[in-house]
Amino acid sequence: TKLKVGLLFGGRSGEHEVSISSARAIAHALSLQENADKYEILPFYIQKDGVWQAGQFAQQVLTSGVPQEVPSITPNLWQFPPETAQVEVWFPVLHGPNGEDGTIQGLLTLTQIPFVGSGVLGSATGMDKIAMKMAFAQAGLPQVKYIAVTRSQVWSNACVFPKLCDQIEATLGYPCFVKPANLGSSVGIAKVRSRQELETALDNAATYDRRIIVEAGVIAREVECAVLGNDNPKASVIGEITFDSDFYDYETKYTPGKADLFIPAKLPDMVAQQIQDMALQAFAAVDAAGLSRVDFFYVEATGEIFINEINTLPGFTSTSMYPQLWANTGIPFTQLVDQLIQLAIERYSPIN
Ligand code: ATP
Ligand code: MG
Ligand code: MG
Ligand code: MG
Repeated sequence: TKLKVGLLFGGRSGEHEVSISSARAIAHALSLQENADKYEILPFYIQKDGVWQAGQFAQQVLTSGVPQEVPSITPNLWQFPPETAQVEVWFPVLHGPNGEDGTIQGLLTLTQIPFVGSGVLGSATGMDKIAMKMAFAQAGLPQVKYIAVTRSQVWSNACVFPKLCDQIEATLGYPCFVKPANLGSSVGIAKVRSRQELETALDNAATYDRRIIVEAGVIAREVECAVLGNDNPKASVIGEITFDSDFYDYETKYTPGKADLFIPAKLPDMVAQQIQDMALQAFAAVDAAGLSRVDFFYVEATGEIFINEINTLPGFTSTSMYPQLWANTGIPFTQLVDQLIQLAIERYSPIN
């Protein structure tokens, strides 16, 4: 009999649409012969308002790729579709808050059914850029200078805020990057070059998150490494992203033709190896499991490598970096989703 895979997608996050695209690619891979013999997909769509949909409704979103919503007057978010009881392994394909950050992972842990990817700790630590950077620093991984900021500092009185900006200017200088701590796809991120831009960017970031991070800007090549496994994970070949935009913002990420991926990246062997080692260290530092994509800055002139971030549920469309890195390392998409499900089961087994 086939294993029933609960494919969980959509979600209450700014990356809702990306999640649908990722889920479609995974559903397709699971429907191909070699996987179709082993797995049966049960789709679960989480609407933008947080309401769960199963069956025909979820399948329809998966097939069409278009977000849908049944307006519910009194949405009972705790009422899960009866189909959830049949799931034998969960495959959460949710990006950003309420999906990649440990919240869903906590819920799935309570169901006592294995699920793909990191648990509560790894997801939460990987998602929050402040907690993530603390874990990386403790592991001795090189990073750019940064300052952690809270919303209350930004929206404070006219005395605290200017001092905060003074401190950022003195410590980091311009350009610097202002980021909501718990987001992805560059949502809410700004590159700032002046006091006025800094003030506006901080105010904007505060509308997204209670926690904000400001980083010194570096001029560097952007390279990424995929990690796959649990306690003995493997690192993929390195990929590079190039683009003409000011930085790798939302538009550049999701407009076809605006960015190019090079796999494998043209790097000296020593540099590639160092990046792979650092990716594995980062994976362990946040307690990630199953999969992650680790992003780096490589300053060619000095040979410096800075870790930028880890993404515990990276974009998973057929053209996304994560599956492409594995395809180029010898694991095609269809095998990759199979391995991830097997890793979920392995991690859940009581002897692990
Ligand atoms: P993802 O979609 O990969 O999860 P994200 O929203 O978590 O992205 P980051 O990867 O932190 O955001 O930053 C997005 C982009 O902004 C980077 O790919 C890079 O182009 C630019 N960037 C971020 N921080 C810096 C920095 N300190 N110096 C230079 N460029 C930066
Ligand atoms: Mg990210
Ligand atoms: Mg992300
Ligand atoms: Mg990134």
